Amino acid sequence: MALIELRDVKKAYDGKNGSIHAVDGVSLTIERGDVFGVVGYSGAGKSTLIRMLNGLELPTGGEVIVNEHSITSLKPKELREFRKKIGMIFQHFNLLWSRTLQENVELPLELAGVPKKERAQKATELLNLVGLQGREKAYPSQLSGGQKQRVGIARALANDPEILLCDEATSALDPQTTEEVLDLLQKINQELHLTIVLITHEMNAVRQICNKVAVMEQGQVVEEGSVVSIFRQP
Ligand code: ADP
Ligand code: ADP
Repeated sequence: MALIELRDVKKAYDGKNGSIHAVDGVSLTIERGDVFGVVGYSGAGKSTLIRMLNGLELPTGGEVIVNEHSITSLKPKELREFRKKIGMIFQHFNLLWSRTLQENVELPLELAGVPKKERAQKATELLNLVGLQGREKAYPSQLSGGQKQRVGIARALANDPEILLCDEATSALDPQTTEEVLDLLQKINQELHLTIVLITHEMNAVRQICNKVAVMEQGQVVEEGSVVSIFRQP
């Protein structure tokens, strides 16, 4: 069975003038090992969709099934366990500025109750993986944007997730740095066999690393398929 399956998923918010249908009947299948892109303009519903994939928000209709579990049927404790298996990176990195890189990467492990020595070892291993070897004691303010996102990636991998969600993860970076971060994501997909879902308004990012793509408009998927078929010249 697919790793992630969305069946007619809906998310409505109450607005001043009635309901806002942020996600309006989305059905998608994401297979293990995919680098799946979700593209669309601002307001299309991409962030709402990704927040439902990690259980931050629950759908108001339809089903989100991850690893054969419908997330709406999980009890609070199960939902917390489930969320550990999903890493996430953000446009503005969401690092803690008063903490070192090591402390930033260790944070999810600390929350999970992992002993100090083991945490430190894992943080070093992950900082090596993302190309920040020897920078354990540095602070985020000493890093370039691309390096900050590498720390974000290291932190997202701390609990050995099966899925990495990327919410506009390269939108704050220049083209050269974007390329480097995308290369790193591709390496992680291949070496750690991690499934990646990439939300972006940048078609080039999708072209560079995704194998499949869904195009969203006004809460709906208007096109879906392999990257080759979607981006084929008419
Ligand atoms: P995107 O990520 O593609 O820019 P979003 O998922 O952020 O799109 O937003 C989709 C629509 O849902 C927008 O109209 C947005 O204003 C609305 N929306 C998103 N989150 C909320 C919320 N928490 N409350 C009310 N409306 C929201
Ligand atoms: P993004 O760049 O991820 O699309 P946004 O600037 O659209 O972020 O939204 C930032 C936050 O504000 C999100 O958590 C989103 O849920 C929330 N949000 C977006 N639109 C609305 C809205 N109309 N009402 C309330 N919250 C919203």
